Amino acid sequence: MNNNNVLKKEFSKKDVQRARNIITGDTTSRTTEGVGYSKKYDHHIEGDIWEENGRKWTIKNGVKQNITKMDKFKKMGKIPLFCPECGTLMKKELDKKVFPAYQKCFDCIIDHEAELFRQGKSKDHFDKLRNSHIHNAMKGFEDFMKDRMTESNDNYVTEAGDVENWRGGKSKEELTHELQEGLEFLEGLKVK
Ligand SMILES: [Zn+2]
Repeated sequence: MNNNNVLKKEFSKKDVQRARNIITGDTTSRTTEGVGYSKKYDHHIEGDIWEENGRKWTIKNGVKQNITKMDKFKKMGKIPLFCPECGTLMKKELDKKVFPAYQKCFDCIIDHEAELFRQGKSKDHFDKLRNSHIHNAMKGFEDFMKDRMTESNDNYVTEAGDVENWRGGKSKEELTHELQEGLEFLEGLKVK
């Protein structure tokens, strides 16, 4: 790291601390380390992994994140641009809806179904498998959403100085609605 980068880093850390103090209402707190510096404002930078209150944290893309949550979020909340199985762009609304349950695009699910039939698997066997996949996806989705709901809407300051939080600024009502909608949709995919 050259001197210029070191300077920039120091500058942005101070700015972040200042923003943090404003958010926590602690406007009298010192923004540099020294006497009176509160330990709870320990600085961490991108990629650091540390433990706090028995949980593991990191900073990714400038945002303080709980590692367990981030993994869950990746699994449940984020939908990649391309299907991991066939590599096509998942642009259909249906792709986005089935992805959390199947981890692949809608066309791949159809292909997979056809393959199972070709292999002579009974419809009953296949139906049970499908319903159990959906059941697991519903459970996972519910856990993930409930976790988001119980999470406080506390703000974290990114290294860029943006204020973000886990709920993404959503109210409990909005999240409850999202959960309900998601569960109903997944339930509708089950073979009756
Ligand atoms: Zn696919």
